[in-house]
Amino acid sequence: MKHGLASTIAPQALRAATWAYTHFRSSGSPRQGLRVLMYHAIGTPIEDDTRGLYNMRFEQFESHMRHLSGCWKEQLMPLRFVACEGGNARIAVTFDDGYLDNLTVAAPLLVDLEIPFTVFVCTGAVARRQAGFLGPEELRELAGLPGVQIGSHSMSHARLTLCDDHQLQEELAGSKFYLEDLIGQEVESLSYPHGDVDRRVRDVAYKVGYRIGGTSRFDVNPDGRDPLLLCRTDIWACDDLPIFQQKLRGDWDWNRWRATDPASVS
Ligand SMILES: [Zn+2]
Repeated sequence: MKHGLASTIAPQALRAATWAYTHFRSSGSPRQGLRVLMYHAIGTPIEDDTRGLYNMRFEQFESHMRHLSGCWKEQLMPLRFVACEGGNARIAVTFDDGYLDNLTVAAPLLVDLEIPFTVFVCTGAVARRQAGFLGPEELRELAGLPGVQIGSHSMSHARLTLCDDHQLQEELAGSKFYLEDLIGQEVESLSYPHGDVDRRVRDVAYKVGYRIGGTSRFDVNPDGRDPLLLCRTDIWACDDLPIFQQKLRGDWDWNRWRATDPASVS
């Protein structure tokens, strides 16, 4: 629920690196593969988000979605196992953390535009009806909307690589079974809190039944990428339409060379 990648770099440096990388790439066409967009809140202030990266204004979000609907309609798809191979450019929309605004603000627009999307929720926040987040009733309502998939973001937003085996099992299996009981659907997808994943975490996720795992590493996913270790494209509140278009094409994928910020979340 807090974040990182860009929070320690000056915006001018980000733009300069993007400009250089775009020219280095020398192609304006989109990079091939599955691009998984990562949003957070749409209109809900986020504690500790000191740079204001993860709470997007609705108007900004709407401009992104209308662009996707108008120019990338054929490439949009649900985040499912079959989406991981296909040869061409594909786009999936995801939200981390399970903010209530995903239902009340984002979903009406997405359903109207027929854009499928996945919401990764922390079941601890759901169960205790934490203010600003989806509760059990809202989650059930969201899961019933067309094109919506619910995924796990663990129970407690823990750093999973630091959990012992018992805790890890609880975080992964416990959240999966809680969600399946609540919404009456199989839950196959997972977003690792803080993007924190290693081989042990990935393998336990597979063993308990997950087939899709979203990390916080910035990149597109070429065919052949492990579906349980998918890179994502972090979308920031300050991303106007030109920057969003750059990210869709892959102009910001140089970020994959950056070491993951230990303070980063998602
Ligand atoms: Zn998170």
